[in-house]
Amino acid sequence: MDRGPIAEIDLSAIAHNLRAAKKITGNKTVIAVVKADGYGHGAVTVSQRLIEEGISCLAVAYTSEAATLRRAGIKAPIILLFDKSNIEDYFKYSLIPVVHDAKTAQRFSKEAKARKHNLNLHIKVDTGMGRLGFSMEDIEKGMSAICKMNFISVKGLMSHFSDADLYDRSYALMQVERFNKARNVLSKKGIKQILCHMANSAAVMTLSESYFDAVRPGLMLYGCSPMQQTADSYQLSAKHELKPAMTVKTKILSLRRFKKGTPVSYGRSFITARESLIAVLPVGYADGYPRVLSNNADVIIRGKRAPVAGRICMDTTMADVTEIRNVSERDEVILLGKQKNAVITASELAEKAGTIPYEILTSLGNRSRRVYINE
Ligand SMILES: *Cc1c(COP(=O)(O)O)cnc(C)c1O
Repeated sequence: MDRGPIAEIDLSAIAHNLRAAKKITGNKTVIAVVKADGYGHGAVTVSQRLIEEGISCLAVAYTSEAATLRRAGIKAPIILLFDKSNIEDYFKYSLIPVVHDAKTAQRFSKEAKARKHNLNLHIKVDTGMGRLGFSMEDIEKGMSAICKMNFISVKGLMSHFSDADLYDRSYALMQVERFNKARNVLSKKGIKQILCHMANSAAVMTLSESYFDAVRPGLMLYGCSPMQQTADSYQLSAKHELKPAMTVKTKILSLRRFKKGTPVSYGRSFITARESLIAVLPVGYADGYPRVLSNNADVIIRGKRAPVAGRICMDTTMADVTEIRNVSERDEVILLGKQKNAVITASELAEKAGTIPYEILTSLGNRSRRVYINE
């Protein structure tokens, strides 16, 4: 038996979600975020499909991720959101750095000069995220310095939202206002015709003021809504008809019939309240199925929900399938996704695990064996 579950990735769902983003934004340029191996969906295959569907630019976090895409033959422009090491890679793989400070710009300029090869870059301004980028106080001075540097050209300005996933818009709108100020600074320095981009999925779905020249969604392309309140997420997913692209499935390792009063798994946190049929599943927290879901999640078997029984172990999980008719050891088990009328979303698992759908998708997706459908 191979280790771990199977993550089935529906590429037509990703294409569908891209069309949804285009529709919402009135056909804005989409910079597709495929960091963390495409949020667990496989960055290479996902990017190939997104390019077929007409996206013009990709974004990843680190140069090693971009190198993987290039080695797979992907030629689309790639924006590097975070990395400033491996400067040679930017030239070797024709990557677009996001520059967060003047010192780094200087290093790029020096390398570009040595190679006599002009480098295009984007500037990041911190409008309130409190992570990376020129602060509002430094942007003017920083841009003056960058304007004097040789062999680099500023082609874009970006910023990132801290809480566009809240229904209270005030902080996000303040960030948009600051972004506009930063744009004016660049414009006054004569840096024009640049691509301005700010909107993540939450902003794409709820904040048209943030669209500018391009949008930068990740999560929604994979079919999830990012809103902090799960109820809001469900409503928005339904409104924009997002289709989850990932289904995580496994098999039954063993079916056990237990007498009433039998403890199940480590710590005896689950004790059968009746004669019970317990399915042992060959998936555990080492496969990205969070241990905090112990006694607190369902799986789907034969189109019906069955609760996780007892502690989730490193390599195994038990489910109480007593209520499900005709269960057999050959049945497929869904941890995430849809089967017949039953569905378990990443938002549901995230809420139960006290986390966000991003973490569910990356932890399950990046540790499962992936198969692609609707290629
Ligand atoms: C991850 C990321 C995005 C995409 O965010 P989603 O919420 O997944 O849409 C956009 N921009 C930056 C800088 C990011 O790090």
